[in-house]
Amino acid sequence: MTTVVERLRGDATVFSVEFFPPRDAADEAILWRSIRELESFDPAYMSITYGAGGSSRDGTIRSIARVATETTLVPMAHLTAVGHSVAELRHVIGSYAAVGVRNILALRGDPPGDPYGEWVPHPNGLNYAEELVTLVRSLGDFCVGVSAFPYGHPRSADLDTDTLHLVRKFRAGADFAIAQLFFQPEDFLRLRDRVAAAGCEALLIPGIMPLTTPRTLRKTIELSGASAPSSLLNRLEPLSDDPKAFRAEGLDAVTELCERLIAEGVPDLHFYTFNRSKATRELVSRLGLVPARA
Ligand code: FAD
Repeated sequence: MTTVVERLRGDATVFSVEFFPPRDAADEAILWRSIRELESFDPAYMSITYGAGGSSRDGTIRSIARVATETTLVPMAHLTAVGHSVAELRHVIGSYAAVGVRNILALRGDPPGDPYGEWVPHPNGLNYAEELVTLVRSLGDFCVGVSAFPYGHPRSADLDTDTLHLVRKFRAGADFAIAQLFFQPEDFLRLRDRVAAAGCEALLIPGIMPLTTPRTLRKTIELSGASAPSSLLNRLEPLSDDPKAFRAEGLDAVTELCERLIAEGVPDLHFYTFNRSKATRELVSRLGLVPARA
């Protein structure tokens, strides 16, 4: 099966999509409708996040296996070290490999229910994503991605230390990194500059949230770990009670962000879909993004 890096070799910016595992049958139907709707746009790859609980984790493994066997999409499975012994991690990696999944996003993860809360390692587990990169690499011919943080990971002492830890993940064998959500193109470009200044030729991919609702804006602020610039808040917050106007303005703002990133030569725009396809399809069309195969 094709790797993410192979899919990003062209000159043009392409796009990829992220989903989360379904909680029940109704969720599963929505997820699969969205997957099928996006399949014909030929994203470079699709990914499914990895939760903290057993049933959600099973949902990731089941869904990624189905994508690998029933669709033309290139799947990438997220995996976190939270609550797992090394033996369990080996088992999950083995179950990804067994269905032909060759792309893994190796993450430390967060303690359940507490984004960026105090990290508690499993007694027989791993401490940092860097160790998971090494483990995945040792178990087969995988293409490995990691996370990166434009504003620094909230638990990093400063940006230099954060960059150092990111570069260590590349040195451990990561092939690319997907950046956490951010607000301005410069925030991502500065991350790219820091990594380059550290002597690392890394493939860095921006994570993009389609700002369709006040909830997606709140989620972006929460995940980014930073405050939204007043220019964006002044643009969107007055529209909070007008869903149609918010969506239109939010998608305009995201289109402008993406246009600048494309002009800066980013290889891929990684869209958070919330398991819906409409906003992503709209952005892909507006931006004229080409199928990854072209
Ligand atoms: P690490 O790279 O291990 O970093 C964690 C902290 O430790 C940082 O502060 C870092 O600077 C520090 N550090 C790293 N290495 C060292 C070292 N050698 N010595 C000392 N300190 C070190 N979470 C989920 O639960 N499921 C998902 O599916 C998921 N998908 C994600 C996808 C993307 C694109 C992103 C950006 C995040 C995702 N997350 C997911 C969230 C992520 O797991 C958390 O942000 C987590 O807090 C950090 O994970 P990490 O892999 O960056 O950790």
